[in-house]
Amino acid sequence: MRALNATHDPALRSWVGSAQAPQADFPLQNLPFAVFRRARHDEAFRGGVAIGDQVLDLAGLARLPGWPDPVREALAAAAQPALNTLMGLPGARRSALRAALSGALREGSALESSLRPHLIPQDAVEFTVPAVIGDFTDFYASIHHATAVGRMFRPEQPLLPNYRWVPIAYHGRASSVRVSGVDFARPRGQILPRGASVPVLAPSQRLDFEMEVGVYVGPGNAAGTTVPLEAAEEHVFGLCLLNDWSARDIQAWEYQPLGPFLAKSFATTVSPWVVTLEALAPYRAPLARPPGDAPPLAYLDGAANREGGAIDLTLEAWLETAAQRAAAAAPVRLTRSSFAHAWWSIAQMLTHHTVNGCDLRPGDLLGSGTQSGPQPQEAGSLLELTAGGRQPLTLPGGQTRSFLEDGDRVILTGWCEREGYARIGFGSAAATVLPAPPA
Ligand code: CA
Repeated sequence: MRALNATHDPALRSWVGSAQAPQADFPLQNLPFAVFRRARHDEAFRGGVAIGDQVLDLAGLARLPGWPDPVREALAAAAQPALNTLMGLPGARRSALRAALSGALREGSALESSLRPHLIPQDAVEFTVPAVIGDFTDFYASIHHATAVGRMFRPEQPLLPNYRWVPIAYHGRASSVRVSGVDFARPRGQILPRGASVPVLAPSQRLDFEMEVGVYVGPGNAAGTTVPLEAAEEHVFGLCLLNDWSARDIQAWEYQPLGPFLAKSFATTVSPWVVTLEALAPYRAPLARPPGDAPPLAYLDGAANREGGAIDLTLEAWLETAAQRAAAAAPVRLTRSSFAHAWWSIAQMLTHHTVNGCDLRPGDLLGSGTQSGPQPQEAGSLLELTAGGRQPLTLPGGQTRSFLEDGDRVILTGWCEREGYARIGFGSAAATVLPAPPA
């Protein structure tokens, strides 16, 4: 999945003209998958692939004759209302589909006239979550986030001693993972007021976003087996943007001793597009570990992981308040960082998840945890950006924010670029905070 091939050639051009637009998220080198249907149409959801500002309808393509067997099998899987079957196909099958789509969408392709009727403008479709997510596991892979948050609670020991050895995670909630554009109500929960000894049931006043990367599992592993590190990426389908909304006041009261529960389970927002690991091959980076740092245990260590386990994926979070929206003012950027700063790689997270024999299934979702960079302005949450709410941000126009207010819309974006390769983007993951429902 890390090998470069003809689909990564930066010189490739598509007969879909918008794929060549400057700063386009979806040039021919990207080809991410989503599940969509035409908006305001009573029709089935099915898989699609992005090219420029269009969606290529893979259910339509599956009905065309003439595909070689491996491609026909992959197209049949991609035509389903959820991509679990496609995700579970062996890497060679998924790769064959990517190569066929790349060839068919290339300038000069003989298939142009038969594919054209299956293009739909992206602004005329609606999306849904691209897989039936069996389980959602949220990791904590940014050492900068773990240290910054730890410093607020334990100034004398910001980073707990297990962090450098064990990829920390908790089992999240799959039912409340929503696709970008689905808004949600401010959660209500138990909160301990400052100085009080008895909690109250109230809407969260410290609602936050978490800028994360989501990872969809590809082929699963049998119960009782462990995926070795060097094979872990064969079990990854692709990546998305993920906002793991968090209620910090509910979290502070409930998290000991078993970890987060209702502070996290009310909503998680994912981008509709899933960028395959194969598309990300040009943007791999060494795992960021300081020289001389003790290596992890052997099952989490390997040369390929050290040299290219990370992905240089730039991440940004933007805020659009209700007042900004009413004034037609542009959203304001809250932060920018890179997934390349993560302490644990995707392969290490996946291998560790299975070290006890736990079975992962196609379409399971792993969260990377909040991705904060080494600099304070690279923090991936308001908790960090406002020093626990003590240093509110001032927005253009004079509004301030410690945490999110009703009507606030948070928009995550992400892209990869490297000299000598195409720039590919992830689209966006956005949702708006609605008022808490009446008690
Ligand atoms: Ca999280």
